Amino acid sequence: MNKSFYFKLTQSAALVSAVFFCTLPAAQADTLADNLAAMEAQSPINITTNNTTFVKNLSPLLFTLNSDTQLKVINNGSPGVDKTAARANLVDPGAGSVTVGGDTYRLSQFHFHAPAEHLENGYKFPMEMHMVFADSKNNLLVVGRWVEEGAFNQALDPIFSNLPQTVTDTLTVDHFNLNALIPDNLNSFRYDGSLTTPPFSEGVKWVDLAQPLDMSAAQINAFSSLFPNGDAREIQALNGRTILTDVPGFATVAVVPEPETYTMLLAGLGLIGFMARRRLVNGGFMGSVA
Ligand SMILES: [Zn+2]
Repeated sequence: MNKSFYFKLTQSAALVSAVFFCTLPAAQADTLADNLAAMEAQSPINITTNNTTFVKNLSPLLFTLNSDTQLKVINNGSPGVDKTAARANLVDPGAGSVTVGGDTYRLSQFHFHAPAEHLENGYKFPMEMHMVFADSKNNLLVVGRWVEEGAFNQALDPIFSNLPQTVTDTLTVDHFNLNALIPDNLNSFRYDGSLTTPPFSEGVKWVDLAQPLDMSAAQINAFSSLFPNGDAREIQALNGRTILTDVPGFATVAVVPEPETYTMLLAGLGLIGFMARRRLVNGGFMGSVA
């Protein structure tokens, strides 16, 4: 798929969420600053053609999502220095899950940021959705999806037509189809990062879906107007991390393990052999592996 086609992809889907808003006491803020200074794998990041690596067969994303579930949507307040987001909580903890790489993560909530937090080749979408999953050991996986201005999103209308305007409001949505949040095309960008809100904990697996979610200008404005100063964290340094993608034609570098490389991996010789034997494909493209 070429670039222009990629940008034209649209999709209906959408969101749940409430905002976490916490103001940290001074002592905790100092500790947070100290901790942050030592962290090197933070989110969000700018995802570009030059810092991504194409991998044809990423582990499939196997979603199991309830088509009729209840949500509690809250507004945690306009974010200050500690950026936050509005959030929709799932009432039924078993309503959604994703299995990837042999591990199953349960959906706990989804929320939105305006403007988007992750950038795509420097481009900032007007909004971004985050679906927050946790496995049985409380390892976090966040599925992110950009929102672009387009068609009215009927599935999200129960939330966006009646967003809680204050921190004391709670919106109950009795019937929501979680499948509306996910596109048909599950091509993605994957990297290891962090929470984008305090305490910015690392070890978060990020799966940023490439196909944006369409919402109307009025729907986007309904959310953005709640957060006039924005609720997106600034872009963080990649610090040598690798971003893998299965989006055709996006990355300038493709890595295709050769058969003997698989053998080496199976023999336990590890990743060094894999990297040494990577080869470029798409002969016309040259680039570097981030
Ligand atoms: Zn978020």
